[in-house]
Amino acid sequence: MVPFKPFFTGQAVSEFKRVTTCQKCIRTPDIEVVGRTARHHTFFEMLGNFSFGDYFKENAIPWAWEFVTEQLGLPADKLWITIYLDDDEAFEIWHKTVGIPEDKIVRLGKDTNFWEIGVGPCGPCSEIYIDLGEARGCGSPDCRVGCDCDRYLEIWNLVFIQFFRDEEGNYSPLKSKGIDTGMGLERVASVVQQVSSNFDTDLFREIMDYTANLAGHNYGQDNQIDLALKVIADHCRAVTFAVSDGALPGNEGRGYVIRRLLRRAVRFGRVLGVKETFLFKVAGAVISQMEQAYPELVQKREHILRVIRTEEERFLETLLLAVIY
Ligand SMILES: [Zn+2]
Repeated sequence: MVPFKPFFTGQAVSEFKRVTTCQKCIRTPDIEVVGRTARHHTFFEMLGNFSFGDYFKENAIPWAWEFVTEQLGLPADKLWITIYLDDDEAFEIWHKTVGIPEDKIVRLGKDTNFWEIGVGPCGPCSEIYIDLGEARGCGSPDCRVGCDCDRYLEIWNLVFIQFFRDEEGNYSPLKSKGIDTGMGLERVASVVQQVSSNFDTDLFREIMDYTANLAGHNYGQDNQIDLALKVIADHCRAVTFAVSDGALPGNEGRGYVIRRLLRRAVRFGRVLGVKETFLFKVAGAVISQMEQAYPELVQKREHILRVIRTEEERFLETLLLAVIY
């Protein structure tokens, strides 16, 4: 979203007024819980559609509904909507145009339903949630959309960029309004494929099964083994894409992020009983899985595998030295 900021404020003019994106994202603050929860990852793909002064709420909302119910085939009666407290415009469109019953449109506050990052374009959000069923809930009589438990899962966030926030925190309406949406691919895949964790979608299972096979294990029989398979799949996806985008393992900045992810994956390989280099092979499986969507992976395949293998070898040497001394 950040590179698009000037298009929303009018500082720059985009070549296209309508854009759809599939953004590769790497984030590591949650690295320690990856594999222990259903939805934390260090690498994920964020789907989005953007309007720079073109369509606004009156289109973005019905189109989002059409996409989730018709293209993704999600059951309309399981879907819930949130809007920002005073966003009556969004309420009217959801209720009157789309036909969502009033009691399934929940008004929430600034912490969840208003998007802003400091000075710049900002605006209210509307989210689409899916009810995964009572069995996934916390059992509390107050359990509803916005509850911290696993029952209601947010699948799409629509941001209506309509204000500009200045240094003093004042909001003024933007001359040309915009749309910015975000939908996590792994999460939505888990809903479409009706599995309880992102790791059980084909995105991860193919990689985990490949690794399990390589190490002589099966997924789903031992919690420690499963955790290792999940962490390795997650970290290997991150490393493969980062290296394909030009990052190299190192001691500083993004290089250190890559090094840390790679070494962590190698350590989890030891949980599987793997003593030799293996991560570059898993990276090969990631490339095979993703090459249709990301052809650059094929062009850089040799480079990616060589970088990962070399770093693995170096790390295994230090691990070995640590054992000897
Ligand atoms: Zn709950």
